Amino acid sequence: MANKCQFRKEDGSKCNADAQTGKEICVFHDPEQSVTVRRGRRAGGIKRSRPATVLSTDTPDVELNSSIEVSSMLTDSINQLRRGDLDPRVANGVGYLASVLLRSLEQGQMEKRLSELESSLGLVQSPLRRSETEEVVTGGENVGHD
Ligand SMILES: [Zn+2]
Repeated sequence: MANKCQFRKEDGSKCNADAQTGKEICVFHDPEQSVTVRRGRRAGGIKRSRPATVLSTDTPDVELNSSIEVSSMLTDSINQLRRGDLDPRVANGVGYLASVLLRSLEQGQMEKRLSELESSLGLVQSPLRRSETEEVVTGGENVGHD
């Protein structure tokens, strides 16, 4: 069984951590180890607390209504990333969302072209028939209210 650390805290209570093999103190209270431990803690602390590098909060929103605008924003983000103005994780997120947005814009374009094509070929359901359908639904809901 491991010995307990003999270090006494400021309030007089014992440390109670397991002592190192062949020593009467734990790694945290060993002066020989303390520099290493502190250095490790500090490095860990820096890694954990360092905020992601992002653009300032007063950066205006960009318009992303076309693939040209998305491409322009991506170009800016790539340059910001290269300068170190943008955290790689943020840039990754931007890249992912931009690819989803591009797909969506593409689909919107296709739907627009398709509906234009349909209407030019006279394939679109006429507005009259659509309102007839709505009347039937409304009529059904009102049954029994007279
Ligand atoms: Zn200790």
